[in-house]
Amino acid sequence: MFDTSRLSHAYITDESFADTLAMAVVCGTRDGNRPCGTCRHCEKALRHIHPDIISIDRIDGKLIIAVDQIREIQRDVLVIPNDSEKKAYIVRNADAMNINAQNAFLRILEEPPAFTVFILSTGNPAALLPTVRSRCVELKSMSVGEYIDNITNREELDGILSGFIEALAGDNVKLMECMFRIDKLDRLALHDFLSLARGKVISSLREEPGSGFTDKRKTLVRAENVLIKAGEMMDLNISSGHIAGFICASLV
Ligand SMILES: [Zn+2]
Repeated sequence: MFDTSRLSHAYITDESFADTLAMAVVCGTRDGNRPCGTCRHCEKALRHIHPDIISIDRIDGKLIIAVDQIREIQRDVLVIPNDSEKKAYIVRNADAMNINAQNAFLRILEEPPAFTVFILSTGNPAALLPTVRSRCVELKSMSVGEYIDNITNREELDGILSGFIEALAGDNVKLMECMFRIDKLDRLALHDFLSLARGKVISSLREEPGSGFTDKRKTLVRAENVLIKAGEMMDLNISSGHIAGFICASLV
């Protein structure tokens, strides 16, 4: 999701995304895509017990985040991370920082230690000082739950896609198995499946050597038409089960 070698020092995002982003900061996976959702750092982050994710919020009953709370961060940022390579500070309801607090925060942003990332979580970025906003990258949201579903769906989708292309060589059992799995995908993943499968079918058609209407070509052309039709069925809000049944019946 994130190439963490290019992580910025400060972000503005909404509440639902702040935790995913903090998880990406502490994630221990070695490749660029974080958070992986499965390493021990991500697990701790999901359970809200990671020592390098520090949350600041309004103190009970108060309407503002006061300058003292930001001064505490100012001292804490100098301490190296406990467990991870980086630390994430989440300022929840960041728009509740009063002017003094925001100015103190600006001073931290002027010279942040290399191992810290600040995440301002707010539904109302316009309430922050322009000087604060200009030092932060604004990100759109995806909750931790949505993100995990997304990875799970992606893996499942890749599996179905390669199975589907293989099945087009005449393996009807495999085709039925793929359609059974399609039925379990959410609508967004099904939509992706239809367009990705169509893309693969089209490139297989291009790669098919020679000319003439071979059996393989016929199957691929038929598959492309079936996938287009299935896409139209999706637009009409027809259930995934019916769409899977239609693809299966049209291709066996
Ligand atoms: Zn991880």
